[in-house]
Amino acid sequence: MRDPTSFLAQEYRELVDSATDWKLRVLGGPSAPWCTIDGKKVLMFCSNNYLGLSNHPKLIQAAIEATRTHGVGSGSVRPIAGNMDLHVELERRLARFKRADASLVYQSGFATNSGLIPQLAGEGDLIISDELNHGSIIDGVRLSRAERAVYRHADPSDLERVLAAAEEHRPSYRRILIITDGVFSMDGDIAPLDRIAELGARHGAMVYVDDAHGEGVLGEGGRGIVSHFGLSRDRVHVEMGTFSKAFGVVGGHISGSKALVDFAYNKSRTWLLSGSHPPPVAAACLAAIDVLENETEHVRRLWDLTHRFKSAMAGLGFDIGQSTTPITPIIVRESRVAKALSDRLFALGVFALPIVYPMVAKDKARIRTIMNAALTDDDLSVAISAFEKAGRELKLI
Ligand SMILES: *Cc1c(COP(=O)(O)O)cnc(C)c1O
Repeated sequence: MRDPTSFLAQEYRELVDSATDWKLRVLGGPSAPWCTIDGKKVLMFCSNNYLGLSNHPKLIQAAIEATRTHGVGSGSVRPIAGNMDLHVELERRLARFKRADASLVYQSGFATNSGLIPQLAGEGDLIISDELNHGSIIDGVRLSRAERAVYRHADPSDLERVLAAAEEHRPSYRRILIITDGVFSMDGDIAPLDRIAELGARHGAMVYVDDAHGEGVLGEGGRGIVSHFGLSRDRVHVEMGTFSKAFGVVGGHISGSKALVDFAYNKSRTWLLSGSHPPPVAAACLAAIDVLENETEHVRRLWDLTHRFKSAMAGLGFDIGQSTTPITPIIVRESRVAKALSDRLFALGVFALPIVYPMVAKDKARIRTIMNAALTDDDLSVAISAFEKAGRELKLI
């Protein structure tokens, strides 16, 4: 008899042979600017911990206290017996921070997109996506019975073409849902959400933005992309985000109208059927909101360092793409070169992973760097010198 599991090793081997398998690195200790990766002390240049909150004393303290008062687990899903006062308070504080009528917290950003999107659009509806949207949106769209259409990346005129075609469709679509990332994680560019919201309003479409990389970064005090563009919530109906990036913890969330939140928690299977956050997680997320509201220096520091790093990299002659956010790609085109640059940087004490095909186009291999507000001026200089040395050795600059 043939071994029914033989495909496992075979497909893994194919990934290894094409150098597209993941070789996992081990972080020994906190995700701090100087961290230990595979036993070597290096500067962290690729975490999503933009503001250094994952290791902030107030978040750590809040998590310890909540563990003492509430234990380490919630005991259930939220609709049954796992809806703690901490979860409710977190949603109240998040809505206040976002200046929305209501917010809802999910276990993760992935659970938010994959659980909510298929409920918002179904049979007889149309979902229109930016071609570079995050994988969790793609999975959410796949779980929906709605028809799908894609517009060219961050291109409102192409979105308009898709909307015009949708208007001709017979029978008419019941509902149209436009979904976009706020900040695109591979290139660091910002979605033209003002134009998208305007087109949505003109065509009667619902607008959903995934602001995972915009929160804690864009807008007033890091309130995100809706604040950045000063948009009305009548035009951006679902502002989705995550506590796993700049907020430094874990958990997905949405903000919008009370009707949205009431609908979402009653319908999203990922929310209804999966255990709620452990008390220390909810408490640390609450503390993260506190820190963002009261210590506005972190977001300012992030942008200051970002501008300095980008201008140093461009000055050295690196191709840093079109990013206008703390995500700065160092584009080297060939996968082989991206891997060599990453290895050389690691040897010089900077940890930044290569991003290669199939995550980006074949000729767009890069090192993706993400700035961190907790770096000192000296840390930044050390990193820039490492990039310069590695770039010269590999004849990139
Ligand atoms: C990271 C990310 C997610 C997933 O968020 P998690 O909370 O980590 O599951 C969703 N969308 C985008 C755009 C992301 O970058």
